Amino acid sequence: MNPSQDERRVLILGPNPTPNGGMHLGHIAGPYLAGDIYARYQRARGRDVIFTTGTDDSQTYVQATAAREGITPEELCVRSTGLIRDALAAIGISVDGFGPFDDTYQATVLKFFSELHAAGVFRLKKVRLPFLERTGEFVVEGLIEGECPVCLATSRGGLCETCCHPNNYDELVDAHSTIDQTEKPTVREAEILVFPLEEYRERLTAFHEARIPSWRPHLGQMIREVLARPLPDIPITYPLGWGMAAPFPETPGQVLNAWLELMPAGMYTTSYAAAQLGTRTEPGQLWQREEDLRVVHFLGFDNAFFFCLPHIALLMAHGEKYVLPEWIINNEFYELESAKFSTSKGHVVSVQDLLREVPRDVARLYLALTAPEHGRTTFSRVGLDKIAEERLAGPWNRLAATLGKAVANARDAQAPLPVSATARGRVTAMLARFDTTYEMPGYSLSRSAETVLVHIGRLAGRADALAGQRVEAAPEAWGDLFFEVRALLAAASPILIDLAEAAGLTTAPLAAGGFDLTEITPFAPPEVR
Ligand SMILES: [Zn+2]
Repeated sequence: MNPSQDERRVLILGPNPTPNGGMHLGHIAGPYLAGDIYARYQRARGRDVIFTTGTDDSQTYVQATAAREGITPEELCVRSTGLIRDALAAIGISVDGFGPFDDTYQATVLKFFSELHAAGVFRLKKVRLPFLERTGEFVVEGLIEGECPVCLATSRGGLCETCCHPNNYDELVDAHSTIDQTEKPTVREAEILVFPLEEYRERLTAFHEARIPSWRPHLGQMIREVLARPLPDIPITYPLGWGMAAPFPETPGQVLNAWLELMPAGMYTTSYAAAQLGTRTEPGQLWQREEDLRVVHFLGFDNAFFFCLPHIALLMAHGEKYVLPEWIINNEFYELESAKFSTSKGHVVSVQDLLREVPRDVARLYLALTAPEHGRTTFSRVGLDKIAEERLAGPWNRLAATLGKAVANARDAQAPLPVSATARGRVTAMLARFDTTYEMPGYSLSRSAETVLVHIGRLAGRADALAGQRVEAAPEAWGDLFFEVRALLAAASPILIDLAEAAGLTTAPLAAGGFDLTEITPFAPPEVR
């Protein structure tokens, strides 16, 4: 089906942020702003949307950061979850529900894995895992760092964030602890439960090959690379001291692999968000095929392996019960002044810090314009100021002042002005253009933001040409301009959220027929500030 005509309910998922710190601009410019603008566009078209994410407490990254900071993992989770929720709210990420790590979360995860365990999907396997003799603990995932066996970049255990290939067990080269980098692990055998991904090769290949042509090339490349190699057995349990207890008799005392938890966690946060919107459902119910949701995942390339392969195979392992994602949209890394964001090195700008200095709409538009959709891009404070002055707040506020003055000087400000067929044609063309940038398969934050700027520039020029003329002197030219400005406010509303609210737009301003007008009442547009 043409996505632009698809009126089904849309389920949008952002990756669950790991609560081992707050959220900086690099996180926001990735999947969260992408999910938010997509969700807002779908709502503006009048569609039913559930947009959700939630916290991801079980990761070893939490344990490693807490150990480095000398606090408990629980304390770190509480503090970080607060910071993450504040950052999402501050920049206007419109999640319908941010699922907490509560009893229902854990019950949903346990049910999902227990059903697969009962169906005989997992295998018991003896593996060699890195082990710290000094502490007597296994160190995997975020607790260990070494050289990626595939691309040779520095990588954590389990998954390389550079090439996105998995590395399991003792495959990292020249590994060391992430808590104390001088500590080198030995290797010990352990019996764990694994998920034999190879058994899903045929179905995974069919699923991805049908979709890869309309996905971003880097994601398709990674999936084809991984599928060209033997698919690994993915750990379901680990002998670790942090994480959710695995309820299986074969692996007493072990915990679930936090990465795989994220699949049922998505079902949990879906029902949590639906409840916030007024629909109470059992976790997992909305993922059943008969619900026919259009599932759209936004995620960073660095963790795409889990979302694209093991997670989808876990859904397949449940038989025909669950819907599979229709779209997976990845992003790359976002940098700060051409260097990687680094909390530990203090090379970071928090969302809240930026918003103390610039209007939220300016921040959102600039992050969208420079979003790392196909490769690394960078945040530049000078660049932001230049865009704001020359292409966004500068021309828009001039346009708003011109229109405001025309309204103030009108003999009867309530008298409607005519809208010509030519203006209706231009608005139809403009909205169609926006649709190609806001909708699949061409969804692009960068092109959406650029399209907003193009039309601000175009209409500011038209306003300049009419400045000083009374509306009564040129009612058709003014009517057309007010009409096109109204349409631009609606089309920009997924990005410029405060402007749209100040303009008092209706709840679904881009619903069919919304701009089928022959006259318009003049209005004073709000300013970007
Ligand atoms: Zn790698």
